[in-house]
Amino acid sequence: MATPHEEYINAFGLLQQHHKWFQESIPLIASENIPSPAVREALCTDFGNRYAEGWPGERVYAGCRFIDQIEFKCIELMKKLFDAEFVDVRPISGVVANLVVYAAFTEPGDTMMALSIPCGGHITTGKKELGGTAGAVRGLIVEYLPLDYKELSIDVDKAKSRINELASKNRPPKLVMFGASVFPFPHPIKELTETIHSMGGTVGYDAAHVAGLIAGGQFQDPLREGADIVSLSTHKTFFGPQHGGVLSWEKYADKVKRATFPGMVSNHHLHAVAGLTIACTEMLEYGREYTSQIVRNAKALGQALFERGFNVLAEHKGFTQSHVILIDITKHGDGGTIEETLEKANIIINRNLLPWDIKEGRHFMHPGGIRLGVSEVTRLGMKEPEMNEIAKLVKRVIIDKESLEKVKTDVAEFRKDYQKVHYCFENATEAYKYVRIR
Ligand SMILES: *Cc1c(COP(=O)(O)O)cnc(C)c1O
Repeated sequence: MATPHEEYINAFGLLQQHHKWFQESIPLIASENIPSPAVREALCTDFGNRYAEGWPGERVYAGCRFIDQIEFKCIELMKKLFDAEFVDVRPISGVVANLVVYAAFTEPGDTMMALSIPCGGHITTGKKELGGTAGAVRGLIVEYLPLDYKELSIDVDKAKSRINELASKNRPPKLVMFGASVFPFPHPIKELTETIHSMGGTVGYDAAHVAGLIAGGQFQDPLREGADIVSLSTHKTFFGPQHGGVLSWEKYADKVKRATFPGMVSNHHLHAVAGLTIACTEMLEYGREYTSQIVRNAKALGQALFERGFNVLAEHKGFTQSHVILIDITKHGDGGTIEETLEKANIIINRNLLPWDIKEGRHFMHPGGIRLGVSEVTRLGMKEPEMNEIAKLVKRVIIDKESLEKVKTDVAEFRKDYQKVHYCFENATEAYKYVRIR
């Protein structure tokens, strides 16, 4: 039996190994990113040990003098970035932000529409049978928005007829959630808002993946296109700490505030609010440059992989208009095995269901697709030529079936030049440097 002190040393050992591994790897998980050293510094402050229930200025606890000033500043900067009338930065994650949306705009038993998981939807918008948050936690009846498999976006005509069909059965959607976890192209909010509103429904938009792109002006602007409420994660294309948030209109402020507190949070991770405030300043200064590079990189990676024989979807549309590309990998194996093999060469991607996978009998553990996102490698300073290098390394693993040890060595060599976080005011500390303060 190890002593408590040995366990203590072991735990730190694992943390340090993780940092070293990421220094030598290519991180291509579409939902991940790397925050700046400034955000990391904010995350280990005393804010993370405090409580501040309620709205800033009207707290339930004492001791919030500086916490309130930061949270007000965070709200102000977020309003500016997203041109939003109302912002709540207390939801502690994207999942909690979606729960805030459900609590504010629906009642259990209401009908909600969203994309299914194989079509790119997230577990938070899932049906009760699947254990999804909307169905199993809020008790909503989830109906699916139809995806156009070729265009990789929502089919407007089919969506309209499905909404009308639900209305004719006296179950018009109380909430339609646009947005997805595989989100290469904008969703038709403008085209569907009138239909949804005419039946008394709310237009929601889950911007977990694309929040940074929206803030940087590179993707659709959901609030201008008709959304009543937008939920966020702040750590995917938005390069902040792991946290959440919602954007909405002044007329909904009271019910959204109440849904968040006392509904969904007690402490709301004040260190993350501080980190988010810092990330907002970086996004205001560098967001446009950073997000336009993301989109260029994603298109370049799609093109480079396509040219090397990979079936990257939506070639006719330039593969993507966001940070993410989706590849049908069935020519080369299944998504699960490919994910595992690439990880052995220190290329970190994730397997993903393709829209038609379930119908073809494939399962989440061994789906037909892989999903690649370029937010983190972009933050590390990579541009189009580096996307070409990444495509070569991926090809060497999957198509050429080269020795994984050999590719792994070359991945580490390639990564050596990209150890700093870009698009931030200060980067004295390397991106994945293990910082010891014991
Ligand atoms: C990642 C994701 C979420 C959840 O985000 P967390 O911040 O991890 O809770 C919600 N919705 C979508 C579409 C996502 O992709």
